[in-house]
Amino acid sequence: MSDRSTRAATRASRRARVNLWDPLTIGIDIGGTKILAGVVDSSGSVVELRRRPTLGHDIVGVENTIVELVHELQQLYDVAAVGIGAAGFVDASRSTVMFSPHLAWRDEPLRARVSDRLTIPVVVDNDANTTALGESRFGAGVGHRFVLCVTLGTGIGGAIVLDGRVYRGANGMAGEFGHMQVVPDGHRCPCGNRGCWEQYASGNALEREARELIVARSPVAHRLAEICDGDPARLSGPQVTDAAREGDPLSIELLADVGRWLGTGLAGLVAAFDPSCVIVGGGVSDAGDLLLEPTRDSMVRHLVGRGYRAEPPVLLARLGPQAGFIGAADMARSAARRSRRADRRRARQLERQQLRQQLREQRGEGWFRRPAP
Ligand SMILES: [Zn+2]
Repeated sequence: MSDRSTRAATRASRRARVNLWDPLTIGIDIGGTKILAGVVDSSGSVVELRRRPTLGHDIVGVENTIVELVHELQQLYDVAAVGIGAAGFVDASRSTVMFSPHLAWRDEPLRARVSDRLTIPVVVDNDANTTALGESRFGAGVGHRFVLCVTLGTGIGGAIVLDGRVYRGANGMAGEFGHMQVVPDGHRCPCGNRGCWEQYASGNALEREARELIVARSPVAHRLAEICDGDPARLSGPQVTDAAREGDPLSIELLADVGRWLGTGLAGLVAAFDPSCVIVGGGVSDAGDLLLEPTRDSMVRHLVGRGYRAEPPVLLARLGPQAGFIGAADMARSAARRSRRADRRRARQLERQQLRQQLREQRGEGWFRRPAP
């Protein structure tokens, strides 16, 4: 074996040894209303769970809560790193939250602020990314290399995981699938554009359509009107799902409409990324097959190369609301391993320097090198 290949083999076996190191890590998911923090092991199992309310506009309060939770969990477990999943745009270096819709973060150097107060490595990422990573590593995506994940809540969160890594794009902003335009001049979206996908395939879309029919006093909406005592503002997405489960034909139809829009958009994403599976999560996915059957039909109906290609299965997310912090903890584990590799590299360098120094001193070299006789 040549020198170079020996060195490469040594490096590879060293990396493998470090990767066998399976520390516990903390994952934190910061949502609009609550903060979930869990100690997670390398198989994705949650060892300990904590929950706190999010104090939306109090940046320092949220930061203090994160630090307190970590300190509290560190007293119970030996943890190696912290991963934070936050709703909002996180830059490509995973340190700054550029903008958050629920919290008052604007260009907030969250990683630096938190790691200044902690003794272990910290990573920050967008919550849709951590959720997708959690689902792909330990949930519905196990066994798949190319995973497309969409989360249906008030909007659509999304991410794509390629070979175990979240694809982030040049600015860390990849995966904003919800704002692809599906209807030119369609419904107005809070992002400022019109006709975004999430205006048709989300919890908000489901509620909007149901409310419109109640307001119009449509006879088909009698059951939904009954549920909200005739006040459409009080109707929620989960109530529509419950009514559909009980057999209300309109609620079944409304969920199927959302599913059809979902499938149409997914067909576009499948054409672009060719994933091996699609995972659908978030509150609306609680409707199960009432949503996913129309989604599958519509996706296949719009798929490029249909009949001549493998159709990716559309799977229901498995980890529920825990996916976000489980994925964040997994990111933290990778960060801990990187940091340990770097520490070891530095230690080896120092060792070599000291050894060289000793040798020089033994040979009487150094500053007082003797002239040759
Ligand atoms: Zn939009």
